[in-house]
Amino acid sequence: MTDAHYLSTLAEEIASFRATHDDRSVSPTVVPDEIREYLTTHYDFSGARPLDSVICDVAAMMRRWSLHTTHPHYFGLFNPNVTEAAIAADALAALYNPQLATWSHAPCANEIERFTLGFFLRAFGFAPESSAAHFTSGGAEANHTAVITALTHRFPTYGSGGVRSLPGQPVFYVSEQAHHSFHKIAHSTGIGRDAVRSVPVDLSLRMDMEALGRMYDDDVANGLLPFMVAGTVGTTPAGVIDPLEAIAAFCDEHALWFHADGAWGAAAALSAAPVPPTAGIEKADSITCDAHKWLSVSMSAGMFLCRHMHAVREAFRITASYMPIAVESTVDNYASSMQWSRRFTGLKVFMTLAERGSAGFASMVDGEMTLGDHLRTRLARTGWSVVNDTPLPVVCFTHPALGTGSKHFEELIGSIYADGRVWISGVTLPHYGFVLRACIINYTTTKEDVDLLVNTLDGVINAMAEGTRA
Ligand SMILES: *Cc1c(COP(=O)(O)O)cnc(C)c1O
Repeated sequence: MTDAHYLSTLAEEIASFRATHDDRSVSPTVVPDEIREYLTTHYDFSGARPLDSVICDVAAMMRRWSLHTTHPHYFGLFNPNVTEAAIAADALAALYNPQLATWSHAPCANEIERFTLGFFLRAFGFAPESSAAHFTSGGAEANHTAVITALTHRFPTYGSGGVRSLPGQPVFYVSEQAHHSFHKIAHSTGIGRDAVRSVPVDLSLRMDMEALGRMYDDDVANGLLPFMVAGTVGTTPAGVIDPLEAIAAFCDEHALWFHADGAWGAAAALSAAPVPPTAGIEKADSITCDAHKWLSVSMSAGMFLCRHMHAVREAFRITASYMPIAVESTVDNYASSMQWSRRFTGLKVFMTLAERGSAGFASMVDGEMTLGDHLRTRLARTGWSVVNDTPLPVVCFTHPALGTGSKHFEELIGSIYADGRVWISGVTLPHYGFVLRACIINYTTTKEDVDLLVNTLDGVINAMAEGTRA
């Protein structure tokens, strides 16, 4: 039996990290060898060591050698700070370790997930009775699920006969700004990476619908078999929302599956605004939404939601004599989704929702959108120009002093990382080239934190200008 003292050690670490991490720098300066050498000299696994001491040591390593994505000055990719409810939920999920493959092994956990997913189905405008939804490891798995479901739905022989049984090459459309998980998905579903038709974006970085129409006509004329359009709700590079209504109409006209990849941005559907930025998402056949992005729960927690329950069940149907018999009025996860054994992913979403309420979720997304506006205003004041157009809190911007090549940007980002107080990234955008990218992704980030970011950027620009003059 391990001494339960480890619990107070763990609680102390959680409390002290949460209380003090704002004071620390966001990014570490470390090289692989430093960590490798530490591990080799401290852990040869030959003897036993008290759990307390292991917890303390791991905590110290994590504090020292992590890019602290939970920090309010992390303006980076879609990695949020996490709610206390999520931390507690992850511990409870590990404690009971329910097996959610079947309903009968984990009645409580399955019903909590079903209940939570029902909330999201309604939030996206899907009817819970005729829809299917499950938690995934993340957006990539949810997108993968969408492609398999769409293929199976459109090509009834795909499931048994595979791609070989089809009368031609299936293709689907995404914008050139879509997430790159689609290429790996196309590879692994056997339709091949060339099946991903990358549609150009217009100056607003949205899918160019005329280009989509032309590509579709050409593909059909060439005997290819289009089956899906995936619109992105909040692109990863620039947070832009594809024209969802127009994509829905296009898919309707051509009998294509409409998948909305809102891994990050679909959360904006929870906004209290009369018309949320995600309007049109309710017309999708399926949706990807990651709770581990904007909804601020710990990794990993994705969701796949589909308005056609039977299409999903057909795509993942399986029986196995060693599995428990399904309970009346329930659907076993292993027979309706990609994973088999599965953890209690939904608990952290349920507990966060219970703790904050839907109004709390709304003020979280609305608050971050307001801070995004504040960042745009502040940047404009000191000569920066914003190049992307989105209500969502991703801001892509540049400065006349940086020019168009990547050299000055790299210099600037290098100085920001060396300074360590804030973290942003750069991205190359069609039409605009290399720009800086800052995302508000932490519900504890304040106006003052955003001001610190802009002041830091201004400082580096001024120093670079001095350097040039000297
Ligand atoms: C992050 C992201 C994904 C991938 O999601 P993971 O949770 O990282 O697997 C897919 N699509 C979009 C638009 C994303 O932003």
